[in-house]
Amino acid sequence: MNVNPIQLFDVESSTFTYILVADDERTAVIIDPVERHWERDLLHLRRLDLTLAYVLETHAHADHVTSAGRLRELTGARAAVPSGCGIAPAEVQLNDGDIIRFGANDAIAVLHTPGHTAGSVSYVWRGNVFSGDTLLIDGCGRTDFQSGSATALYDSIVGKLFALPDANRMWPGHDYKGQSVSTIGWEKRHNARVANRSREEFVAIMGALNLPKPKLIDIAVPANQNLGLPHGA
Ligand code: FE
Repeated sequence: MNVNPIQLFDVESSTFTYILVADDERTAVIIDPVERHWERDLLHLRRLDLTLAYVLETHAHADHVTSAGRLRELTGARAAVPSGCGIAPAEVQLNDGDIIRFGANDAIAVLHTPGHTAGSVSYVWRGNVFSGDTLLIDGCGRTDFQSGSATALYDSIVGKLFALPDANRMWPGHDYKGQSVSTIGWEKRHNARVANRSREEFVAIMGALNLPKPKLIDIAVPANQNLGLPHGA
């Protein structure tokens, strides 16, 4: 059994990128790659002699630009993105319940988990969930822009992610405190925003956050809806 997933980090935006290595150890998928790290990510693939089958996005990010378009061009991988995120150039538009097959035997299940953005998805693979900005370790994504909804986020976390087995490892889209991985069971019991809270309490917490607007949002969202490539490219 290989060590999986490979977890990579962007310090500037505190974003995680994941490389999932198929059981055949020849094929990989990458989730939420960051533009400024495209060379690093390619070196990982080359070092392990992996063919990149898919570039996946969990949503159209507001805080960094994706390298999905660039990696697709350089490797021949296909881009697969949530259908509700307005990322038109991707080859595959994913919906709830879809299965992404790669390698000899691997399959990733797509869970539509709206709330951070209306189109956000989480990916489930071999006892791991990649929750994007839906569920973070001891936190969750914000819900105050990009068609965000605190009630939808609560239902996605409690109704869909917390319905996964407690032992499922949970890999977040960001972390701001140096944590890297949790489990569904742990977050169910200890997540400060949602554990033992009603939907009403959660909505009140989210409504009182008063976060500043992300600096990059006006650049990042349109860029990410074009897979990080300049418009017209
Ligand atoms: Fe986000």
